[in-house]
Amino acid sequence: VEQVLETDHMKTSFHTEEGSVEVINDISLSVSEGETLAIVGESGSGKSVSALSILRLLDNKGKVTGGNIWFNGQNLTDINKEEMRNIRGRDISMIFQDPMTSLDPVYTIGDQIIEAIQIHENLGKEEYYKRALELLRLVGLPDAKNRMNSFPHQLSGGQRQRVMIAIALSCRPKLLIADEPTTALDVTVQAQIMKLLKQLQMELGTSILLVTHDLGVVAEMADRVAVIYAGQVVEQTDVKTLFFSPSHPYTEALLKSIPRLEGDLKQKLEPIKGSIPNLTDLPSGCRFHPRCPYVSEKCEQEEPPTFLAGSNQRSKCWLNDPSFSDQVAASELNQ
Ligand code: SF4
Ligand code: MG
Repeated sequence: VEQVLETDHMKTSFHTEEGSVEVINDISLSVSEGETLAIVGESGSGKSVSALSILRLLDNKGKVTGGNIWFNGQNLTDINKEEMRNIRGRDISMIFQDPMTSLDPVYTIGDQIIEAIQIHENLGKEEYYKRALELLRLVGLPDAKNRMNSFPHQLSGGQRQRVMIAIALSCRPKLLIADEPTTALDVTVQAQIMKLLKQLQMELGTSILLVTHDLGVVAEMADRVAVIYAGQVVEQTDVKTLFFSPSHPYTEALLKSIPRLEGDLKQKLEPIKGSIPNLTDLPSGCRFHPRCPYVSEKCEQEEPPTFLAGSNQRSKCWLNDPSFSDQVAASELNQ
């Protein structure tokens, strides 16, 4: 399968009054054709900044300072703003959590979709209208014909997100980046939007990079998952392996923190102790070590590289060092 996106040791820094802060330190991930990769982590871990770095939509205080971003065989860190803008309008689209901020309140839904189509297609006036209506029907907006004349505030949150999806897909992008696309919606609508995205992905073959803090959304949507902690990918694997045999202690802790549907909900809820580290004052060695139940002296001193933990699983943890079990065996022998 062809790889659509690959970031390799991506780093991003922000300028602050206290100097430059590295918000993303080591984000290596890949998305293949037609698949959904979820980036999951606690808030403040760098999920959205990763997405914005790929899109080059950081405000002027933020900058990608290291690594490469390969899209469709092209290194996005090498191209200029204009080329990047073309790629965003043509090959990569995005949807965000709150469609109200992305839609213009003073233009009708129809006008906004037509405007999006005009960026990449040259058609006659009637064709634009037909195409826009087609897109609204594709995303299942009820009463699409009348909705063409509605303003954003006349639609519900779920309907607005459908409109955003229509706009995002109007260019038939290779890659759709969706940052918490269902977080602002109630549970029923959330499920409908996820179903819609999956169905459209099947029809159009779009790859999806999904940013979420919600493991329920991951289970529902993702083929593969990149777990990020304090600006680094700590585990990357397929969704089944993630839920059934996680290799990184942080993933394990995240999984323990979701309430179980069966049994006594409250007793089984175990929030992860501690909080994500301050990026200006990071722990030595492994960034997760102050919260890790398996911490050893080595973890406090040396940052672990990313190890292969299984045929399709990578883990940034010393427990996955192939020589680790030998070391343990040797130290037991010496006792
Ligand atoms: Fe825990 Fe050590 Fe692994 Fe870090 S490297 S996650 S501290 S066991
Ligand atoms: Mg975010």
